[in-house]
Amino acid sequence: MALYVLKFGGTSVGSTERIESVANKIIAFREQGHDIVVVVSAMSGETNRLLALAHALDTQPDPRETDVLLATGEQVTIALLSIALQKRGCKARSFTGGQVRILTDEAYTRARIREIDDKRIRQELADGCVVVVAGFQGIDEEGNITTLGRGGSDTSAVALAAALKADECQIYTDVKGVYTTDPRVVEDARLLRSITFEEMLELASLGAKVLQIRSVEFAGKYKVPLRVLSSFEDDPGTLISLEEENEMEAPIISGIAFTRDEAKIVVSGVPDVPGIAYRVIGPVSDAGIEVDVIVQNVSADGTTDITFTVKRADCEQTRQIIGRIAKDVNARDVTVDTKIAKISLVGVGMRSHAGIASKMFKTLADESINIQIITTSEIKISVVIDEKYLELAVRSLHSAFGLAEEGNA
Ligand code: ASP
Ligand code: MG
Repeated sequence: MALYVLKFGGTSVGSTERIESVANKIIAFREQGHDIVVVVSAMSGETNRLLALAHALDTQPDPRETDVLLATGEQVTIALLSIALQKRGCKARSFTGGQVRILTDEAYTRARIREIDDKRIRQELADGCVVVVAGFQGIDEEGNITTLGRGGSDTSAVALAAALKADECQIYTDVKGVYTTDPRVVEDARLLRSITFEEMLELASLGAKVLQIRSVEFAGKYKVPLRVLSSFEDDPGTLISLEEENEMEAPIISGIAFTRDEAKIVVSGVPDVPGIAYRVIGPVSDAGIEVDVIVQNVSADGTTDITFTVKRADCEQTRQIIGRIAKDVNARDVTVDTKIAKISLVGVGMRSHAGIASKMFKTLADESINIQIITTSEIKISVVIDEKYLELAVRSLHSAFGLAEEGNA
């Protein structure tokens, strides 16, 4: 007998009909003799609807009251699902985050889980119940309701699985799992059967947004096997787990992530002296702006160029900050380009294989796509290119690396 934590997202519980089919799924699972803890999101659209109500009253509603409001979305679905389970003769009981004591810090609307008391849940399981827990919410030391940030039910599920030492945490969603790349861009993108936490983190942070990124970090840290699968299909989906023992056997490339939401800033002709990178990047970070790729080249004439990327939404603010310091650092010129895209090849197998970067560059060269920036890490190679070639680049790389075929080399 195994213990499973099953999480159903907003679309999966978006109507009473869907809640009934979730109930049937849970019962089928339970009939195999497993202990089940279920975590649910609010019905799809509900969290946005609640937020809009608050914003109709105040453009900056009080965070504490916002959390009291948002937590109601999940309270509705835990009760409805429990009713549906009971109606089918399955013992079930619902709990809010506070009731099972999902203890968080005090950071309303983006709280972090500190501790989960597994006693209550274990008692209920021993009593033969399916335990249905509200995702996305917890309680602080003082008893205030907190929420974990948008998409936070994934993290609730993983945290419960970690606290209960569950055999697997299954995230049911409206896609079949994690693909080699976005199927909207590459038609023959393939569903991955397994992927490591490390790879998933790279793919998720780069745009393959299937799971809340924090939940993957959590799962990696506590070694919770995590499976992403569709609520609407009978398919095992994608298992996200620890690195394979033998990386030689892992596929070299697992996936291609890309993003269009960055902008490139080039600060050129600054004096090549100690402290210059800090003087350029420091004020940008101090403003709370996340800097992604940073490159600085070697100087030939005593000056250097510093190029970096930020989120497009932060571009204007960054332009103003750099505009202010350009004189102080004696920059020759500052240019901003918002029409860029970043593409990354990701795979743990890269560690033990050479030649991946050159194959990537050749593939892009064959399509006459100019590379503006290159960065690499142990399991990732990223390039920044002109946005208009993004789809062509992703398609050619997907095909050059044989990602559509099972067990590609
Ligand atoms: N209901 C919350 C949201 O929409 C949490 C979740 O769905 O994971 O962000
Ligand atoms: Mg979600």
